[in-house]
Amino acid sequence: MTTEKAEKKPELIKVDIARPRTYKWSSGKYLGRVYKEALENKKLVANRCPKCKELIWQPAAVCGRCNVEAGEDWVVMSDKGTVVQYTYLVFPLWDPHYGDRLANPYPTATIKLDDDGVFLVHFLEERDPEKLKNVKRVQAVWKEEGRGRGLGDILYFRTIDE
Ligand SMILES: [Zn+2]
Repeated sequence: MTTEKAEKKPELIKVDIARPRTYKWSSGKYLGRVYKEALENKKLVANRCPKCKELIWQPAAVCGRCNVEAGEDWVVMSDKGTVVQYTYLVFPLWDPHYGDRLANPYPTATIKLDDDGVFLVHFLEERDPEKLKNVKRVQAVWKEEGRGRGLGDILYFRTIDE
């Protein structure tokens, strides 16, 4: 036996999902310079504070140490450096910005760049856990194609003999 209530079916509506859209946004004058130099010249740049003379990484309008306007004294930094520490993860990760699955396992290192003492965090090419223990000197390996992601234009840092 059916009741009037049971005979009523829920009203279904159809919702069309819009196709994913690409976004464009300004990275700003300072960070934009990082993207531009990486894209066009495979270079890492930072701006220098006029007061303390330290490089500001990542480039910014104001020096966080001195609280003064940083200006545009641009410096091309070395893409060689020394590994200060590394992390060796053994579970999968996804790039939060682009959704790419990162290699597994992959080592991430804090690297002190030559000359100006800027630290940055990036991947190491070396994945052998035993060899990683001895990685000291590294150099950036830049993508040949598909650049435009700032630091992401560097594939990884390769061990160099020096
Ligand atoms: Zn300063």
